[in-house]
Amino acid sequence: MNFHEYQAKELFGEVGIPVPPGRVARTPAEAVDAAKAIGGAHWVVKAQIHAGGRGKAGGVKLVKTFDEVRDAARGMLGTGMVTYQSAGRAMPVDSVLVTEATDIAKELYISMLVDRGTKTVTFICSAEGGVEIEKVAETNRDALHTVHVDFVQGLQPYQCRQVGFAMGLSNKNVGQLTKIMLGMYKLFNQYDMSLIELNPLAIVASGDLMALDGKINSDDNAAFRQPRLQAMRDVAQEDETEVMASKFDLNYVTMDGDIGCMVNGAGLAMATMDVISLNGGSPANFLDVGGGATKERVTEAFKIILHSDKVRAIFVNIFGGIVRCDMIAEGIVAAVKEVDVKVPVVVRLEGTNVDLGKQILRNSGLAIIAADDINDGAKKVVAAAKSGQNGAVA
Ligand code: GDP
Ligand code: MG
Repeated sequence: MNFHEYQAKELFGEVGIPVPPGRVARTPAEAVDAAKAIGGAHWVVKAQIHAGGRGKAGGVKLVKTFDEVRDAARGMLGTGMVTYQSAGRAMPVDSVLVTEATDIAKELYISMLVDRGTKTVTFICSAEGGVEIEKVAETNRDALHTVHVDFVQGLQPYQCRQVGFAMGLSNKNVGQLTKIMLGMYKLFNQYDMSLIELNPLAIVASGDLMALDGKINSDDNAAFRQPRLQAMRDVAQEDETEVMASKFDLNYVTMDGDIGCMVNGAGLAMATMDVISLNGGSPANFLDVGGGATKERVTEAFKIILHSDKVRAIFVNIFGGIVRCDMIAEGIVAAVKEVDVKVPVVVRLEGTNVDLGKQILRNSGLAIIAADDINDGAKKVVAAAKSGQNGAVA
């Protein structure tokens, strides 16, 4: 799950990670009130969206008067913001964060994530942070320092000091960095996080460290035991189709391509996407209807796939083990009748009650293209997506 910067900063404050004073506003007038309450002479108005890269997209504005605060907030609120990190989506700007503006002497970078390679929680630190961090990672890997945390010992203060000195920080900043890293580690564990990123972690005019931006992700598998994080969820920022799917407990992820996939079992779903790619096609989604799929869930799954106007053909690939092929067939028939399906549907059924399932599809009178196996199905659906033609009755 993703969070807003203001939510991340609220949590940072609780574990002693210094952040500039700030307030959230949902209208231009509220933004002005926020600036007045914060005080000072300069502010930063920041679009609150679930994507980074706001600085380059006009979502971070340094302002010097209350009129400028209002104008900056007005320019952002109610718009859809596309950044290089928003995967082509226009993220709705429903709120802005107004913070006190700080003078930056230097921008550092620090993040924390689960490194699957070493099976450890890992910090990545750099003395060269800011909006060009991706470039640093590509062209100057020596500037990145990693700290692997021992699962049993936990993060040790000496590890923080070591990386602080490697980054060339002063003694004072090394002490502050240690406190920040220990705070991050505490949050990471307490809230089942998968990512915490402070970029920039700035050395401000006073010479102290301060987190000017914060990004956190939490592990969805642990959502059930994180009520506080659940309360922070902002569904408006999420992919509409994925939200629909989550209501029906369907494992759905939106992808870039044009071939909708309905598969049972995560492994088969991954394999299906691979075989589609191998045959020159591109999946529009990952969808695992699960082992306990019911007719209703199959119908919903169909609707969800068709919710995207990018889908030019659908591949239903079902291996009936626990889930019965006849039940899947009934779900497909019900869905196709309920929703106006204008794209070709290729179906491969195998396993329990397969003959009955095929018979149901045949008798339905629907234009469904039958496939013998996964490869045959992939070939047919790729061809169907390319031609945009509907198929013959199976
Ligand atoms: P992002 O682009 O979405 O990562 O948004 P950030 O919050 O990281 O802001 C982008 C850039 O704006 C930062 O790297 C800073 O250079 C600048 N910035 C953000 N907050 C402040 C601030 O308080 N003072 C100053 N001078 N610059 C800031
Ligand atoms: Mg940033």
